[in-house]
Amino acid sequence: MKYLLLLVFLAVLWWIFRRPAVSGGNDIRAEQKPPESMYCCAYCGVHFPASDGEEAGGRHYCSSEHRRASGQ
Ligand SMILES: [Zn+2]
Repeated sequence: MKYLLLLVFLAVLWWIFRRPAVSGGNDIRAEQKPPESMYCCAYCGVHFPASDGEEAGGRHYCSSEHRRASGQ
């Protein structure tokens, strides 16, 4: 009987500590996005995310206007 109570106590402890780790961990992972690399525009010097700009001749530009303005 003594060991049964100990087993139940340990099972309850395991259940309490295990539950927040499983649900909380999934929520945090779902909200996080992989970091996006930032580039500096070769024409105006503004910093922008890689998906917003354009690359030409090994240089990065914040917009197609600045890429054309720099002769690329
Ligand atoms: Zn620019």
